[in-house]
Amino acid sequence: MTETHESAPLDAVIVGAGFAGMYAIYKLRQAGMRVRAFEAGEDVGGTWYWNRYPGARCDVESVEYSYSFSEELQQEWQWSERYAAQAEILRYANHVADRFGLRDAIGFETRVTSGEFDSDTNLWTVATDRGDVVRARFFVMAGGCLSLPRMPDFPGLDEFQGKLYHTGMWPHEGVDFSGLRVGVIGTGSSGIQVIPQIARQASELTVFQRTPNFSLPAFNRAMDPEFEREYKAIYAVHRDKARYSSAGIAGHPTPEKGAMDDAPDERQRVYEGGWLRGTTGFTRIYKDILSDPVANSTMAEFVREKIRRTVKDPKVAALLTPTDHHIGTKRICLDTGYFETYNRANVTLRNVRSEPIVSITSQGIRTEAADYAYDAIVFATGYDAVTGAVLNIDIRTKGGASLAEKWTAGPRTYLGLMTAGFPNLFLITGPGSPSVLTNMLTSIEHHVEWIAECLQHLRDKGMVRMEAQRGFEDEWVEHVNQVADATLFPTANSWYTGANIPGKPRVFLPYIGGHGNYRIKCAEVASNGYEGFALSA
Ligand code: NAP
Repeated sequence: MTETHESAPLDAVIVGAGFAGMYAIYKLRQAGMRVRAFEAGEDVGGTWYWNRYPGARCDVESVEYSYSFSEELQQEWQWSERYAAQAEILRYANHVADRFGLRDAIGFETRVTSGEFDSDTNLWTVATDRGDVVRARFFVMAGGCLSLPRMPDFPGLDEFQGKLYHTGMWPHEGVDFSGLRVGVIGTGSSGIQVIPQIARQASELTVFQRTPNFSLPAFNRAMDPEFEREYKAIYAVHRDKARYSSAGIAGHPTPEKGAMDDAPDERQRVYEGGWLRGTTGFTRIYKDILSDPVANSTMAEFVREKIRRTVKDPKVAALLTPTDHHIGTKRICLDTGYFETYNRANVTLRNVRSEPIVSITSQGIRTEAADYAYDAIVFATGYDAVTGAVLNIDIRTKGGASLAEKWTAGPRTYLGLMTAGFPNLFLITGPGSPSVLTNMLTSIEHHVEWIAECLQHLRDKGMVRMEAQRGFEDEWVEHVNQVADATLFPTANSWYTGANIPGKPRVFLPYIGGHGNYRIKCAEVASNGYEGFALSA
């Protein structure tokens, strides 16, 4: 359906129908607002709609990686595993869309291409690749933090005669790798999940690794009914704990001790216990792992030793052992049989640092050392994170600058929620908010609820325009940087800093001050009459 300028303006246009977009539709409608969402996929689910590669699984426990806004929903839904697989999470997203009647608000297979704010009318005009043109008071970015897949620009990509895949754009019908020669590029969370699965099918699998990563066994298992029953009995208590925790995860309590407070033997016991729990909260065992290089090295060495013990060939083990970054400063991974996969006879590891990829050829991959032939190549090469999906839309004010221009040297926001100069534009889990350092569901719910309350406040006060004030934004950006600089995070070449994208400004993108603290700050800002934002009638 094509809407035109003649239609009455909506209250809000929402970009995306993943978990953020769906909740925004629900919450704003609940507040009596007229909303429309646009979603590039054919259906809801966002990341879980696109990432259908074998092995795709959440690394936050199912009972936590789910909506908390409806007691009925969280009681009735049953997760089958401790860490849910992609298909189950997608079923959950569909269940939510049906249960709360969200689909009629969504234009599927439609990508938002531009948004222009007119200061005379205080309205956004939003256009899509299907020719829709809609006007709305508010423009809400819910396009996700890891949703714009990135293919390295190797020459020859078009020449390959086999099949090319990216983990973040996986074919819906699935892929059968049986008997095929497969090359996988990338060993981040996606690569680490997909590699063991492909290895079981392919006749030969070659992994092209640029940076070895720290990964822990997930110890995934079927949901224990007793655990589920006990958890659900006090669900609200767990959720509240998550809301005021650092990572938005109830199961990751804030540590009090430093690593060097324990004697080496005790520390080893603590690490061993943490290891067996199988959680990304491992790096939160001690309070200084992510800020003190000495503390960090004790944990890193523990994990390195695990890798050496798992991988039988010492040369391969050495290549798989991370030494160029502090543990946790690149997103830690959870795996199922990842390192064990390199003990298989059909799996080869190639080091892209000593043997850089030169091009993709008609037959496979050419490195500086040799030509390798494949039937399929899988890119597990990540995303233009946090800012990619927002800047993929041409966002501007009428007669003014574009957001891309404003963010040339890196994103600037106030609280990660709004950016000065772009009134009525809201970012869900935007840069400068805890977002990707947390359970995304906790952060999404927090932002959607804050925005919904804010829009109700504006309506109640007869206001039609809200904008972040530059001075407050500058202070927030400085604070975000200061907090990051007090940690080891900026030392790593990670997507957290934009280092994975050639030419992307090096800025630590999320806010690392902790979800709970951040939530309190956002509440204070709201209760002080939206301090730092200019509101006008
Ligand atoms: P990623 O962490 O950015 O990893 C991309 C991988 O591709 C890295 O190993 C990278 O090497 C490599 N690479 C990129 N360009 C390359 C090139 N030109 N040549 C050779 N290698 C190249 O991306 P991801 O694995 O998709 O994960 C992104 C994030 O999504 C994760 O950190 C996580 O937050 C989320 N995720 C979560 C789950 C889960 O819940 N379990 C699963 C998947 C993804 P370098 O390290 O050297 O750059």
